[in-house]
Amino acid sequence: MTKHAVVIAGGGPTGLMLAAELALARVDVAVVERRVNEDLPGSRAGGLHSRTLEVLDQRGIADRFLAQGQVAQIASFLGIPLDISDFPTRHNYGLVQSQDRTERILAARVDELEVVTYRGREVTGFAQDDTGVDVELSDGRSLRAKYLVGCDGGRSLVRKNAGIDFPGWGPSTSYLIAFVEMTGEPELGVRRDDKGIHGIGRLEDGKRLRVLLSEQPARQGDEPTLDELREALIALYGTDFGVHDVTWLSRFTDATRQAASYRERRVLLAGDSAHVHSPAGGQGLNMGIQDAVNLGWKLAQVVNGTSPESLLDSYQAERHPITARVLKSTMAATALARGDDRTNALREILSEILKMEEPRKRYAAMMSGLDHRYHLAPGHPLLGRRMPDLDLLTANGPRRVFTLLHDARPVLLNLGEPGVLDIAPWADRVQRVDARYAGAWELPVLGAVAAPTAVLIRPDGHVAWVGEGTDQGLRDALTAWCGM
Ligand SMILES: Cc1cc2nc3c(=O)[nH]c(=O)nc-3n(C[C@H](O)[C@H](O)[C@H](O)COP(=O)(O)OP(=O)(O)OC[C@H]3O[C@@H](n4cnc5c(N)ncnc54)[C@H](O)[C@@H]3O)c2cc1C
Repeated sequence: MTKHAVVIAGGGPTGLMLAAELALARVDVAVVERRVNEDLPGSRAGGLHSRTLEVLDQRGIADRFLAQGQVAQIASFLGIPLDISDFPTRHNYGLVQSQDRTERILAARVDELEVVTYRGREVTGFAQDDTGVDVELSDGRSLRAKYLVGCDGGRSLVRKNAGIDFPGWGPSTSYLIAFVEMTGEPELGVRRDDKGIHGIGRLEDGKRLRVLLSEQPARQGDEPTLDELREALIALYGTDFGVHDVTWLSRFTDATRQAASYRERRVLLAGDSAHVHSPAGGQGLNMGIQDAVNLGWKLAQVVNGTSPESLLDSYQAERHPITARVLKSTMAATALARGDDRTNALREILSEILKMEEPRKRYAAMMSGLDHRYHLAPGHPLLGRRMPDLDLLTANGPRRVFTLLHDARPVLLNLGEPGVLDIAPWADRVQRVDARYAGAWELPVLGAVAAPTAVLIRPDGHVAWVGEGTDQGLRDALTAWCGM
């Protein structure tokens, strides 16, 4: 039986990002992926939000994505566009990029980090005991791991086999989505009616069309027929526009569910296996990548023996509430997608409200992921929030904060008198950086905050401790987040 420290079921965006995070921490990790390559039929996620670009920047790989996508203002709430160009972040925008491109870049990164990938195979079952998990593959092979992480999507076999509940709401609406050609001249653009929102647009090749049609009442089955597509077009547009050469036809719904637990002993969940929702607001892939960045370093520290298993409890404690809030926003967006007169009136009023400074900033920060706060302890506003990417002056010259996080190791950034903070017991795993910073400290939504004299930054870029002239609380924070 082949052994790995961690086996990840599913090499979609979440599984690939998690594999890279674990490999950076020198964990022996393997990915098992059903697909033979990164090709995805049709289209799924179309963009990366600001915080996702930031976490990729923290690992030094944001440029790979920026080089292939298109920078744009993509944040929206309830379908109402929100501009973040005045936000205090280097990435005050999103990136329009197809999911298969995102996956190709992540897969190349995983290869670069020499992660073992078993492609063209499925995880078909597993059994866990006190010391590990036996993972069965569809080719008859078995793997033994200390931990198994299910990144195997919304229908997760790992979640089901671990007996983890998936409570939530069934579909209230479903959508047909297709890539087609049409003989007739379709009406391009978005259309709303009392059934919901529909649209027809040209694909990049200028020849084929992308069709999105909402169905009321919701229908089941993600393999609809061409006849169903024709019927839906005729019902909504009065004609099927001579639809032909359908290269992709699928159905998705607004079913909204979140795993009751993100961990069952040695089995963990991340990404769509832990939460599903409507694609409104373009959150799914982004949440998966951020789950991976929250979990990766913690699992690495537990596997490497530097932290107790209880560190893993903070994964659910931190990520579950953030995702629950996003799920609520996607449910509201679906409700507001209807095009009847009353819903139109409500949308108009909300549009006006969201143009006001305070609501715009608040909801834009939520949808772009820039306001995520993990509730670590009361105190300075930076605690639990993302560390801003400041321009520092260090003994080795100018450095950006994010470049200090490339290796996914914690950083104690000392902005006070050099050398005063003693981290001797943690010196092998925490980088201590003495630096100067003269600018303002500004956070999205909150605005200016008091300048600290030091900060302990976790590998995921969240602030775990803030120094305000003394080292009070530093040892406790180091013990909690960096191990004994
Ligand atoms: C129409 C549509 C539009 C969307 N638009 C957006 C958007 O704009 N922005 C956004 O952020 N998100 C969007 N999403 C959501 C996004 O696609 C998902 O949230 C994202 O793919 C989740 O990534 P994941 O890695 O968690 O799961 P998945 O992408 O589902 O990956 C799971 C992987 O596991 C593999 N797998 C499954 N079972 C097994 C098994 N037993 N063994 C081995 N491998 C297995 C699968 O082959 C797959 O590669 C959209 C989704 C849809 C359907």
